[in-house]
Amino acid sequence: MIVLDRRSGPLFFTIEELHNVPGMPAVKGTDLQRRLKSQAEAMGAELARADVASAEGAAGDFTLRGADGASWRGKTVLLATGVARYHPTVDGDFRPCFKYAGKGNLYYCPDCEAPLIAGKPTVVIATAGARGGAGMALGLSRYTDDLTILVSGPGAAASASQIERLEAKGIELVAGEIKRLVGRPGRLEAVRLADGKTLEADAFFVSSPARGRTDLARQLEVEEAPTGHHAQPASQRGDTNVPGVWIAGDLRPMTQQVAVAMGTGNIAAVMIDQYLRRRDVA
Ligand SMILES: Cc1cc2nc3c(=O)[nH]c(=O)nc-3n(C[C@H](O)[C@H](O)[C@H](O)COP(=O)(O)OP(=O)(O)OC[C@H]3O[C@@H](n4cnc5c(N)ncnc54)[C@H](O)[C@@H]3O)c2cc1C
Repeated sequence: MIVLDRRSGPLFFTIEELHNVPGMPAVKGTDLQRRLKSQAEAMGAELARADVASAEGAAGDFTLRGADGASWRGKTVLLATGVARYHPTVDGDFRPCFKYAGKGNLYYCPDCEAPLIAGKPTVVIATAGARGGAGMALGLSRYTDDLTILVSGPGAAASASQIERLEAKGIELVAGEIKRLVGRPGRLEAVRLADGKTLEADAFFVSSPARGRTDLARQLEVEEAPTGHHAQPASQRGDTNVPGVWIAGDLRPMTQQVAVAMGTGNIAAVMIDQYLRRRDVA
């Protein structure tokens, strides 16, 4: 078995503290990554850094090709290519957020981190329009009643019913471009806007689309999920409409969590093993 990864996923960043990973409270992303890697190697897997540019073939003989021209053949393929996230841009550049994403109080995942904002003044930064930001803020209002939405990117406007609920909860919508992040390592304190306004808070949540990296799935003709941004499993086991191709993790249309990625990877691996044994017997 070979695991090909270009290593740009969230666990390769220093996510200081992962939440909701059963049995591993507050595990660091980088530590978890190391443990998974050494466990896979101990079990005989080969791990290689590679940017896979193309995938083709059919059950029993798939070929993956790297951007550098390398190629790999396999009887089955498990795709776990994750999602691409959209960070807020700061003076036109998305990289300044890396200083705080996963390392302090700039959060992305309400399913993982919403309880951490309990009672705290919080700014929701909507990178793809007010509608998404309003949906996130209304969900977060269960944890704090001090919420502001900064709409910092183009996208759908909030619906009339969202606006009514935001008003009822005293949640303000502010539009503006972020000019600067103000803070110290691991702690974002404020966002300064191009119009000179500064939004201070104890916590910041990013509302952004997380779109599955479906390029390889599409090349193999794996069905698209109704979300339009993920690959569709044929069953909970992670098999797909294409015999010999399985999918796992954030690429599937479900909540993006480490434990879910591991669980869906686990069931896919077991099913692939059973599939290969059945083929051998046949
Ligand atoms: C800031 C942040 C904080 C988070 N906090 C938590 C938390 O507290 N708790 C929690 O449970 N979850 C958290 N998550 C979510 C969690 O990280 C993901 O759900 C999990 O990593 C998904 O695993 P995955 O293997 O499906 O995808 P990923 O971890 O994204 O891994 C996919 C890998 O595939 C590689 N890849 C993609 N395409 C190609 C290609 N063509 N060729 C080669 N390699 C490729 C990518 O480079 C990447 O390394 C957080 C995410 C972020 C961004």
